[in-house]
Amino acid sequence: MVFGSGLPQSFNPHKYDMIVVGAGFAGSVCARRIAEGLGIHVAVLERRGHVAGNAYDCVNEAGIRVHVFGPHVYHTKSQRVDSFLSRFTEWTDYRHRVLADVHGVLMPVPFNRQSLQLAFGPARAERLFDKLVATFGKDVTVPILELRDTNDPDLAEVADYVFENIFYHYSVKQWGKTPDELDPVVLDRVPILIGECDLYYPEARFQGLPCDGYTAMFERMLHHDLIDVFCDVDARDLISFEETRTLFANEPYGGEIIYTGPLDELFGFEFGVLPYRSLELGVETLDQDRFQPVGTINYTVSEAFTRITEFKILTEQDVPGKTTIMREYSRPWSPSSGQIPYYAVIDRESRALYDRYLERVRELTNFHPVGRLAEYRYYDMDAVTESALELSDEIIALHA
Ligand code: FAD
Ligand code: UDP
Repeated sequence: MVFGSGLPQSFNPHKYDMIVVGAGFAGSVCARRIAEGLGIHVAVLERRGHVAGNAYDCVNEAGIRVHVFGPHVYHTKSQRVDSFLSRFTEWTDYRHRVLADVHGVLMPVPFNRQSLQLAFGPARAERLFDKLVATFGKDVTVPILELRDTNDPDLAEVADYVFENIFYHYSVKQWGKTPDELDPVVLDRVPILIGECDLYYPEARFQGLPCDGYTAMFERMLHHDLIDVFCDVDARDLISFEETRTLFANEPYGGEIIYTGPLDELFGFEFGVLPYRSLELGVETLDQDRFQPVGTINYTVSEAFTRITEFKILTEQDVPGKTTIMREYSRPWSPSSGQIPYYAVIDRESRALYDRYLERVRELTNFHPVGRLAEYRYYDMDAVTESALELSDEIIALHA
């Protein structure tokens, strides 16, 4: 394995049976799984100076592990995803808890029984809770949009409260759109919880953080005799297309190409620009032991930022007298902004545009888009891993 910077003069693409573009979850999982599954040589090209994509982390001057591109908490229901990733790391027992700051009152998100008490007072909350249980059941989750659909005046009041105080302003800050303008899958990620559970990911069977960080986990995943990694290489300079064939450095390439970057960018935005939101991340190290009671506080009705995360709580490090926090400011994104496209803004129009790009690559038999960017999906790390494992299965079956 080479963790080179740039491609060496001697780089010969034909020495490799597969080229993977991007060393985030999508690319790294495919590289490892297929190199092992088929026993073939794989080159990974990454345009950043490091592996791990947006999950990249490093230890700062205060000794605190910071997630450079925003806070990442691993969680999954999938045994397969967990078994695969657990080959490259041990996990901490961290369980993510989030509070919403609603005009100074801190209440659990997902909105649960305790949130109901804080919002409506104990006596009224108990009656409302009983009604929620009678309607939906106990210890279940209900999407806010489903709760808003009920005709019962008490439940409608709960729905209005949650919609206004948890979802509306936060979503407008995050997406520049009202919740009604968003794809329902966005709000469904954080349903209402009819019960006491105060975990942000109540349904995850597996949860935690890699004991020595995400970057170390990726380094181990990519550390294999059949995998070479080249950082600071933008594959757009090397990949081109001729009818149904993919060219590498202007020559036909016989191997497989796995692509995890945005497709519109790869094709010079020829059909138009896929919409994304970006983030400005404000990082501050403070001379105090602790800043807030839980890992993340969402500012759902106030402030210009959406949330504050305190890394020490996520990493469970013991660093007396210092703590590092991150504020997330959502920003519009454009190709010329120089910012990272973090969140696909998915609606009917952007999906249709994406489908035109997908149609464009469907003709290319050895080109495989996968991951949050290349599939234009709102994927978490586990969903990306699952998609990459499925693609790997297909490629292995094709060549076995
Ligand atoms: P990426 O991580 O973006 O990797 C793609 C890689 O390809 C990048 O390194 C990029 O530089 C490289 N690349 C692109 N184009 C080219 C090119 N032309 N040439 C060479 N290299 C190229 N998920 C969770 O499960 N839990 C969380 O708590 C969580 N928190 C998040 C917080 C934030 C702020 C964000 C934005 C996302 C979060 N996610 C979380 C989602 C998670 O980051 C993604 O699911 C995952 O990192 C996507 O992996 P990927 O490989 O598809 O994409
Ligand atoms: N959301 C909200 N208020 C919250 C939490 C989430 O309005 O307190 C909405 C918001 O639109 C957000 C989406 O639900 O973008 C998904 O939230 P999640 O925490 O999953 O977002 P991510 O961690 O991916 O940024």
